[in-house]
Amino acid sequence: MKVTADTGKCVSSGQCVLTAPDVFDQREEDGLVVVIDAEPPPAQHALVRESELQCPVAAIRLLDA
Ligand code: SF4
Repeated sequence: MKVTADTGKCVSSGQCVLTAPDVFDQREEDGLVVVIDAEPPPAQHALVRESELQCPVAAIRLLDA
């Protein structure tokens, strides 16, 4: 799985960070999403998929590899 997040869409709601804190973070200055693990291990995949669903602006994109 590869994870990307579109900071142009992100509205800093923090849902992804709450759901998968090992994969997503937010920038100190503006709260925009930062992907801290773009290729998370299988144990994280369910949480990452949940984050994709929770994001209010569909900023998170997943590629299954
Ligand atoms: S859930 Fe979506 S809008 Fe909210 S911080 Fe994460 S990427 Fe940004």
